[in-house]
Amino acid sequence: MAVKGLDIFKMTPKKNCKECGFPTCMAFSMKVAAGTAEVGACPYISDENKASLSEATAPPMKSIKIGKGATEATLGGETVMFRHEKTYVSKPLFAAAVSDVDSPEKIDKIFQDLKDVYYDRIGEDMFAEVVSVRFVEDVNRFVELLNRVKEIGRIPMAVTENKEAAEAAAPILAETGGILVAANKENAAEMAALAQANDIVLGVSGASIEDLHDAVEAVEKAGWKKLILNVGTKSIKEAYRNAVDIRAAALKGEDRTFGYPSVVFVNELADGNEQMEVALASMFVLRYGSIIVMTDVDYAKALPLFGLRQNIYTDPQKPMRVEPKIYEFNKADDESPVLVTVDFALSYFVISGEIERSKVPSYLIIPDAGGYSVLTAWAAGKFGSSTIADFVQSSGIAEKTKSRKLILPGKVAVLQGDVQEKLPDWEVIVGPTEALQVPKFLRELTGIA
Ligand code: SF4
Repeated sequence: MAVKGLDIFKMTPKKNCKECGFPTCMAFSMKVAAGTAEVGACPYISDENKASLSEATAPPMKSIKIGKGATEATLGGETVMFRHEKTYVSKPLFAAAVSDVDSPEKIDKIFQDLKDVYYDRIGEDMFAEVVSVRFVEDVNRFVELLNRVKEIGRIPMAVTENKEAAEAAAPILAETGGILVAANKENAAEMAALAQANDIVLGVSGASIEDLHDAVEAVEKAGWKKLILNVGTKSIKEAYRNAVDIRAAALKGEDRTFGYPSVVFVNELADGNEQMEVALASMFVLRYGSIIVMTDVDYAKALPLFGLRQNIYTDPQKPMRVEPKIYEFNKADDESPVLVTVDFALSYFVISGEIERSKVPSYLIIPDAGGYSVLTAWAAGKFGSSTIADFVQSSGIAEKTKSRKLILPGKVAVLQGDVQEKLPDWEVIVGPTEALQVPKFLRELTGIA
């Protein structure tokens, strides 16, 4: 049950001493109720009240950290059912899947794809972060594969309910911040003890959603709460329903037993149908996979899925922006012209692609335009002649190139006169209205074919 600010206020001594960092006890209480301040920040609330409030004001879904160092990532911590209500918090991670009975050729291909598929999209590194390693019969090979995952800098996820295999996997999982998908209703205490002893995130499975609930309760009772929940592989319909019910139970039904991130084995649900696998992975990006396991993550699968994930897991209240600075293309040199655009990520993405395609060495300068598109930024007063002229003068672009050709987006041709007046040393040119026309425009401007 959510706690109201007034209930918390009643527990404070009403001293308004500001030691908690807030001007009044009431302000502090409202922030604790909203989940943006820790109840422990007030030294005067009794330990008993702190304990009850900490439990009551904890987020409905736990944030679970996996990986270590460069691979560290967070799962869960979600507070809303739908992105438009606020924002989703932790993007789902993609995993490729291998097992100890797979052929060396199949395994090599999967690992090669993991290395190959690594690219930048709007400032975010795109790659499959996790590798699921299933134990079937050979413990040594199983551990070898987990080590191989570590060597390529990904997070290993060991999948086995076999005690010997789980124990063999534990040290490498502990070292890498890996995951052990091993617990069920029957072995809950044993696997909870193993996970706790090695500080490993434990995956919990059940034959049905009721069974899963019992298994989570048993693991929690055994003292371990770093968990992820397996939504099951019986059927697509059931896995989807479980994913939605688990999220709804945690967020709407306030059932903390289900307040954990999830893992979805779409590789098993798709049963060898690659198109179906991508369709299911898309579905679980939207509803509510935290780790999405696929047979393999090659470019054909990665491009649509990573793009979808990035679009869904950005804050809809914040524009997607790129850093305002000078960008260089095609080995820009001291003869290269200068294009200017806004810091809206999609504008940058589209124009940078076309400049690269032109093969003309060029600079692209991006001032702070509020993260809006060209016309919106102009209409909002964020992309006017002063913004552009100030950035040209302060960014150091005049030292990088002797060319004094400055190309404005065609959509703000109206700015040409004002910019020219503010930058008399530059020749201010109106560029194309569409990015697609940029390669031809640049080649004609510079004479570079
Ligand atoms: S530290 Fe406690 S008593 Fe002091 S202002 Fe904050 S809530 Fe009130």
